[in-house]
Order: sequence, then C-alpha cells, then structure tokens
Amino acid sequence: MKDRPALVYADAEGNISDWPALEMAGAGAGEWIRPHFSELIELPEGSELFLLPERLPVGYNGSQRRFETLAADPFDPAKSVCAVAAFISPAYTHLLSPAYRTKEGAPILPLFAYTSVGWANGGFVVPAVRIDSDRRQDFCNFDLKLIERNARKRMRAESKNRLLQHLGKCALTYGCPAAKNLFMNRWEAPLPTSPECNARCIGCISRQEGTGLSATQERIGFVPSPEEISGVAIPHLQKAPRAVVSFGQGCEGEPLLQAQTLEASIRMIRKATGKGTINLNTNGSIPEAVEKLCRAGLQSIRVSMNSARPQYYEKYFRPKGFSFDEARRSLSVVKANGGFASINYFVLPGFTDQKSEWLSLKKLISETRLDLIQMRNLNIDPEWYLDILKPDLREKKLGAGRLIAMIREEFPSLRLGYFNPSVE
Ligand code: SF4
Repeated sequence: MKDRPALVYADAEGNISDWPALEMAGAGAGEWIRPHFSELIELPEGSELFLLPERLPVGYNGSQRRFETLAADPFDPAKSVCAVAAFISPAYTHLLSPAYRTKEGAPILPLFAYTSVGWANGGFVVPAVRIDSDRRQDFCNFDLKLIERNARKRMRAESKNRLLQHLGKCALTYGCPAAKNLFMNRWEAPLPTSPECNARCIGCISRQEGTGLSATQERIGFVPSPEEISGVAIPHLQKAPRAVVSFGQGCEGEPLLQAQTLEASIRMIRKATGKGTINLNTNGSIPEAVEKLCRAGLQSIRVSMNSARPQYYEKYFRPKGFSFDEARRSLSVVKANGGFASINYFVLPGFTDQKSEWLSLKKLISETRLDLIQMRNLNIDPEWYLDILKPDLREKKLGAGRLIAMIREEFPSLRLGYFNPSVE
C-alpha cells in the first residue's frame, strides 16, 4: 500500500463511499490519529460495516496538515453524512477506533466494537492485527447446511435436554460461533448455565437496565442439570478434534453462582472421559469455588477484565460482593492447581495502551504467572465508556500495536490470542 487510504463516509441514504480529498483517520480514546501503513490490513472476511448515527466523519487533510470534519455530503452539500466503522471478525484485535465528531443529543451506540475503516486499492482497510491464527471462528469455515441438519437431528433425538435445545437456538437463530462448532463436532463448545450474575457490567451483552441499550444476547432462563450439561459435553469431548467445553458464555450471567452444578457436572464428565479440555469463562468473583472446581477436574480458566487497574475494573464491572482482588486470586488458584490461566482483556485503543495500564498489566501477569491474554475488542460506545470511567486522557498512550509488541518483548513465553486453547 503506497497511498494513504481515503476517508469513508455514509450519505443520507446510507450508501457508503470514499472521499479521497481526506485521508482515513483513527482515534485513541478520542485523540485523532493518522494510522501508520504498518497498522493497516484488508478488512477481514466476515466483518461488518456500521453507520454511526449523528456522528460526522473526521479525516486528515495532507496538504493542510490538519484533521478536518466532513460536515456535509461532498456531492450534495444540502445533504447530511455520517461516520462509518468496521465491526471486525473474531481473531483480530483492533488498533484504532473510528475518528468522528459527535453531534449534540446523539444516541449511545449499540454494544459492538467499533474500528476505524478506510478505502485503499479498491478495498476497505482497517488498523488491526490477526492476534490468533486459530481458524475456529473464521467466517468461511462454517457449513450452515450441515449445522442446520445436525442441530435439528440432535434437538429431535435429545428433546428432553433443555440445554441442547437452548444451544440449537443459539446456533440456528443467533448464529453463535461456539454453538455452531458444537453442531459441527469440533473445537470449542459452549455450556451456559447461569441466569444470574453478581456483577452489573456497563457493557453486559446479556442484560442492560436503564441505559436504553438492548442486550445483544438473550440470557439463559434456567439452570441445566449436571445430566443435561454432561449430555452435551461428553460426546463433544470424546469426538471433537482439539476439544474444549466452556462454561461462561455471552448468553448467561456468572457461572460461579452455579458452582455446585458445575462441580457435579465436571465430576460426571470426567467419570465418562478424560479427553479434551474443561474451561471456565468467568468474572472470577469466587476463588474458593474455583478451588473446588479445580479439584473436580477444571483445567483452564479465562477471567474477563476491561482493565488491570482496579479503579477502572470496578467502575466497569460494578461488582456485588467482590472486587478486582478476587478476580486476580481466581487466576492464581488455577495456576496453583496446575491449570491454564488466561484473561479476556477488553481492548479499547487509547485506554488499554495508557502507560499506567501497561504497568498494572505487567504486575498482574507477573503475580499470576498468566499463560495467555485474549486481546478482545471491547463492545461498547468508546465515548460513553470513557465518560463513565473518566481516565486521565492526557496520560501518555503507547499505541495498541506498540503495546502488543511490548507484551511480547517483556513476556516472551506469554501467549497472545483470542480463543480458549485446548490444553490437552
Ligand atoms: S459478568 Fe458477564 S453476565 Fe455478569 S454483568 Fe458482566 S458481562 Fe454481564
């Protein structure tokens, strides 16, 4: 790529076009930035483009050397325009948010991750890196006809298993990649169990109250029995290549609130098969329960974190009866039991790469002997998030790409990825 990508915008009818008079720009926690060529990749297959209502696109004027707002349609100045963002595919970590100017009274953006997007060499480009080579959620790898056939067949054959019926709906209605992999008998399968949660995350995708935002996932409404859970897990662990079954999904609350059910299920599963990996995705709120699950056979844990700085973690999770300390201790408990520990690290460019965040992350990695950081894109309106957390935006930003390089330099044996690995 030799020329700087052009700005992309949407006209009043929602048609997306490029405007070569301005270069593509990105943002880091509200600071507008010219993306570096080395940060740009073609828009990954399976990504989507979103219009950002009541937000004007901002680009860079190379000849005037300044950022400029595209206030109206360049082809019809009487018409309005709006900014455009990419919602990039799993396995990619974004490096810059979109650059835009928000109009007074603009609605909060829905719970998706917003990435800067431009136009170059006849295609869309984004500032992002492929952080995980695992192809388990690559768009091209899903055989929808096979998934439909297998899901319907199993839902008929196991009509009494409520969890399987729930996962059939997740695969066929919501298109959940983990549920789709269950019905393709491969890789990681989901085991949601908990209607309740002991946190009130600002960006919770399964429950939103008083924000005017809709949750993007319907929360499970029952606690499956150990028989229903192992009925899904055992055949998957026995048959699937690189098999992983994971408690803690987007369509539920906190699985540790169902610790007794999880413990009984893990014992039932391990009585039937020693194959594959049993993983727990969690907010890590009850380390004592994690200890019991490790004794029962839990092999890996993924603790969700928007920040390694306790004050911002607690402003986001709004925990009930636990704190950042419990989440950190749950990681150490799994390591102490010989297990695999990772964090589900919500990346927001300009915030995650703040100097003080890096210093706190280094401390967390060293203290917990972490094995993996899943560099996931934070699904939230960046301005709304920063307005609630109120970090010092004058603080030095390292750049998300630079942060990834620094983690690799400082912790060469630490893995960076996007998915829960098989630890078999
Ligand atoms: S821990 Fe999970 S389920 Fe609970 S509020 Fe946060 S995102 Fe929602």
